[in-house]
Amino acid sequence: MIGHVDHGKTSLTKALTGKWTDTHSEELKKGISIRLGYADAVFRKCPNCQGSEAYTTKPKCELCGNKANILRKVSFVDAPGHETLMATMLSGAALMDGAILVIAANEPCPQPRTVEHLLALSIGGTKKIVVAQNKIDLVSREKAIEHYNAIKKFLEEFGFKDVPIIPVSANFNTNIDLLIEAIEQHIPTPKRIEGKELKMFVARSFDINKPGTEVKDLKGGVLGGAVIQGSIKLGQEIDVSPGLDGKQILTKVVSLATATGQLDEAKQGGLIAIGTSLDPSITRNDQMRGQVVGDKGKLPKPVMNLLLEVHEFKRLTDEQEKLQLNDLVILNAGTATALGQIARLKGSQAELRLKNPMNVWPGDMIAISKKRKTGWRLTAYGINK
Ligand code: GDP
Ligand code: ZN
Repeated sequence: MIGHVDHGKTSLTKALTGKWTDTHSEELKKGISIRLGYADAVFRKCPNCQGSEAYTTKPKCELCGNKANILRKVSFVDAPGHETLMATMLSGAALMDGAILVIAANEPCPQPRTVEHLLALSIGGTKKIVVAQNKIDLVSREKAIEHYNAIKKFLEEFGFKDVPIIPVSANFNTNIDLLIEAIEQHIPTPKRIEGKELKMFVARSFDINKPGTEVKDLKGGVLGGAVIQGSIKLGQEIDVSPGLDGKQILTKVVSLATATGQLDEAKQGGLIAIGTSLDPSITRNDQMRGQVVGDKGKLPKPVMNLLLEVHEFKRLTDEQEKLQLNDLVILNAGTATALGQIARLKGSQAELRLKNPMNVWPGDMIAISKKRKTGWRLTAYGINK
């Protein structure tokens, strides 16, 4: 779930999953999502009814009351739309097989983060998208159509063709069935690659112990994220990289769970939480976000230098500002973030020095944000050599 702040990502996640992902008090106070929210939905279809209205997330058909058949389970990542939280948004994008771009009908399109999030999707090859034109309850039919055409034009300018635009109202549950139908048709479950080594991106981490728990009852740290490749099993030894203080950490999978229950093994697709034997103090408050989990001894060494082939974005709204030698940049690879500096630049080849280590693979697409007067702006992506 991506899009500009306040356009209704959290509300739409709620309409689809029944879960309000904005649960942190800090976030409630500020009224914005600052962390990635997770929620699962089960998409179903009534075998007796026809058309979009046959789609539902409820066990029973809302038209005829019959039992609806399960199509698939979908995990939603509610990415923050605030401009200072692009790194968190990009972490979320790394986990997504597809995205719902939420655009509010009562504001001109595109808003800055609408553009940036759409660009972010093109990094990492994303992907399939469906646009939810939200808050249609707030505009007239004419305004809604005008706005719909503005979205269409905007998508075309960015090279996104055949993207469905579904007018919805998250607050009134309007056209949620149509949205599910569009997701079913345009964001198919990708083919999973079998038999490869484990690669899991960590997007959240937690200490699940209540304050005052006795040491003997303490549960190990929990890592949340998505398996990008391979599979992870209960009892398995895993490396967590880059780890802490320049050392990868070896730990063990003590429990494995999704929102719907415990598992013995998790493969690609969907969001999982793994209980580990890690000291819970190091997993508190998302401290392990950006780490990669792999089979013991199989992860590449984290790097402090990157050689990238850089592709700069041609912007629709901002003056394009080229990357230059010595520029400070923020790099995002998978769920990881690093501060870097451009140490060499020759044509489209850039060499970067990082302030903190990163795990990267050849061919990885890495997002590059540059500091501007208005803050960090997604400027380019680099392909790791
Ligand atoms: P986010 O920042 O994109 O996650 O946006 P939120 O889901 O927090 O919504 C921002 C505000 O817009 C809240 O006050 C919502 O109640 C409101 N909102 C969201 N969807 C709708 C809608 O469909 N209609 C109306 N009228 N308000 C909406
Ligand atoms: Zn029915």
